[in-house]
Amino acid sequence: MSKSKDFLRTIVENDLKSGKYKEIVTRFPPEPNGFPHIGHAKSIIINFGIANDYQGHCNLRMDDTNPTTEDTKYVEALKDAVEWLGFNWGDSICFTSNYFSKLYDYAIELIKMDRAYIDSLSEDEIREYRGSVTKSGKRSKYAERSIEENLDLFERMKKGEFKEGEHVLRAKIDMSAANMKMRDPLLYRIKHAHHFRAGDEWSIYPMYDFAHCLSDYIEGVSHSICTLEFENNRDVYNWVLDTLGLELPHPHQHEFARLNINYTVMSKRKLLELVQGGQVSGWDDPRLPTIAGYKRRGYTPESILNFCDQIGIAKANSMVDISQLEFCIRDDLNKKAPRVMCVLDPLKVTIENYKGREVIDAPYYPDDIAKDGSREMPFSNEIYIDRNDFMEQPPKGYYRLTPQQPVRLKHAYIIKCKEIIKDANGNISEIKAEYYPESKSGCDSSSIKVKSAIQWVEAKQAKPVELRLYDRLFKDEAPEGLEDINPNSLQIIKDALIEPAVVSDKFDERFQFEREGYFYADPIEYTDTNPVFNKIVGLKDSWNKKKKTTSNTPKCPIKKAQIDGEVIPMSTKQQGLFSRYTIDLGLNSEVANTLARDETLSNFYEKTLKKLHSPVALANIVVNEVARELKQVQVDELKFNAEQISELIKMIDDEIVSSKIAKQIFEQMAKTGENPIQIVEDKGLIQISDPAKILPIIDEIIIKNPDNVAKFKAGNSKLLGFFIGQVLKNTNGKANPKIVNTLVIERLK
Ligand code: ATP
Ligand code: MG
Repeated sequence: MSKSKDFLRTIVENDLKSGKYKEIVTRFPPEPNGFPHIGHAKSIIINFGIANDYQGHCNLRMDDTNPTTEDTKYVEALKDAVEWLGFNWGDSICFTSNYFSKLYDYAIELIKMDRAYIDSLSEDEIREYRGSVTKSGKRSKYAERSIEENLDLFERMKKGEFKEGEHVLRAKIDMSAANMKMRDPLLYRIKHAHHFRAGDEWSIYPMYDFAHCLSDYIEGVSHSICTLEFENNRDVYNWVLDTLGLELPHPHQHEFARLNINYTVMSKRKLLELVQGGQVSGWDDPRLPTIAGYKRRGYTPESILNFCDQIGIAKANSMVDISQLEFCIRDDLNKKAPRVMCVLDPLKVTIENYKGREVIDAPYYPDDIAKDGSREMPFSNEIYIDRNDFMEQPPKGYYRLTPQQPVRLKHAYIIKCKEIIKDANGNISEIKAEYYPESKSGCDSSSIKVKSAIQWVEAKQAKPVELRLYDRLFKDEAPEGLEDINPNSLQIIKDALIEPAVVSDKFDERFQFEREGYFYADPIEYTDTNPVFNKIVGLKDSWNKKKKTTSNTPKCPIKKAQIDGEVIPMSTKQQGLFSRYTIDLGLNSEVANTLARDETLSNFYEKTLKKLHSPVALANIVVNEVARELKQVQVDELKFNAEQISELIKMIDDEIVSSKIAKQIFEQMAKTGENPIQIVEDKGLIQISDPAKILPIIDEIIIKNPDNVAKFKAGNSKLLGFFIGQVLKNTNGKANPKIVNTLVIERLK
């Protein structure tokens, strides 16, 4: 939990220091008339967060004073949201309806003090009498009623003797108060409605201004935190508590700016309209800003917590850019999500010179040598690639498969296109390809150069999946209503193909489908026969490009550094580095934060970047491995330099070594200062296993050594070692000895 000190925490600390309150008690007081949204999340995080930070308590209170709109299903959704965000409300939740009798008694006290009266003006007259900001109001003649008459009427209102709107209970304050809220605010109104908890017991219900402050008081709340629109209600809040002469300390109301996000509607009323109008599939539609929607889409609670931490708590309303929220979820998943392969628009590729099948051990975190975990990927001569990854007539700068240009199948081999098969309509239906046997990822000894690696799945074992790709629900930055809905906010892909481990391993819930985005198994509709994945967020912010925003303020939040609970701001230079790292280079904010704040590390990183453009993998190794070495020694005492780190990462990028081997190489570099390429060669870490490469060498040796061949064939089996040795010598030790062994025996049979 963040300890960054906002203005509310400063107030809380001062109140504790001065002894005004012994214990911090806050509350989150939603009205259960809709599903909670991200604005509520902000309020939850503030209220529960402050209580946690100061060893206090936060109540979850249902402000259920409006029987016609409330429902238990909303209570459940609110509880679920609080829990999902990681907070705990203690033994039981509170309901304003639990206090209905107490509130009624307090109202009677006010009447007895002649500080409240039954007014019988119509709604329109009440409005008219209130006056305006420039014109003072006029008190109703009913304010002259005697205490006895008021008590009698109030009791009969409670019993249900009057029609709705016939009478109301009002505070007797000041009809010419500058603060309009203080012009005899309504305290109770008649409502003949069934309450989802209180049943039919009540025909009158308390108004917000009366119920809220007293509920806070009853619960011993110290800091009653609400949004700015309640600022003027604070006077009423204090008037009620003071007039009733309630024991001190009273709760105190503090206001902060509500969260507004562009491209988003955030009022429960408007969300309800979308749900009821069928524009979305329900309150948990993944396009909605509801907690249930985020949860279903695959957002993590951590990303919401980070988002709220980064936007901070302000005293003035403003608009937050939705790309900042998207940044936070992308940033969180970037750290956590295993990388797997899914082909959205499958195109068959038959690799004609590949025989048999094999299983490839593919790392889940290929960009981070510090992270373990891998899965098995079946491979055979029939695979699928994405239709977008092949072009017959490519434009300039197209780096994927073309008739002229080979491409790497990520974690596997390099292939080249031999033939394009088309259907009767001239559409490409299949590619016939060839692979380079010695180009296997992690031990590539071919000299084929490719410009990119693409995702693929093995044809027989791939699983069909349904993908739901979401875009923003509104196309307008400040949506007004249904006419601003983005008609393309949901795209369903029925026949994508995914590698089998994703469906069978259940290694994680959220994945990065390489080059496509982050995805989450739909928690409701996913079944083994119809696996459904929701797109959580893309890999990059595609909207900023579409829109070409003119503002040059970074859309990335600046991570705060904390030392002893104090927030240390970044210098301008550090901020510049931070936005370059997150926005331009795609690093996650934690890695970027570490680099930007540490000059030694960022200098080292910049040097590695000069040699190789592989920003993510380089940043990971610098922030993890290099930083660990720097805890022991100064930068000029390191056994290795930036250039060598780039060489090491380049070998991973070129798939010459696997990231597992790279880790061993790094350890050796750190110990001895040897060059990574040297280490690989000395240890024979790149092996030649392809018979097609080894056999010609064997044949050459056979031709050069006819005597030894004769002797071996005559029964001198010791000469086997000679032949193997010759092959190894010829390949600088890179040939795989086991395979050489088998091949030599076969040749000399
Ligand atoms: P809505 O307008 O969406 O119905 P509300 O304010 O009426 O919201 P409540 O259920 O009364 O919703 O709110 C519960 C708490 O959440 C209140 O303290 C309110 O101030 C807070 N809250 C609601 N919306 C936001 C928001 N956008 N940003 C921050 N806090 C919010
Ligand atoms: Mg409301």
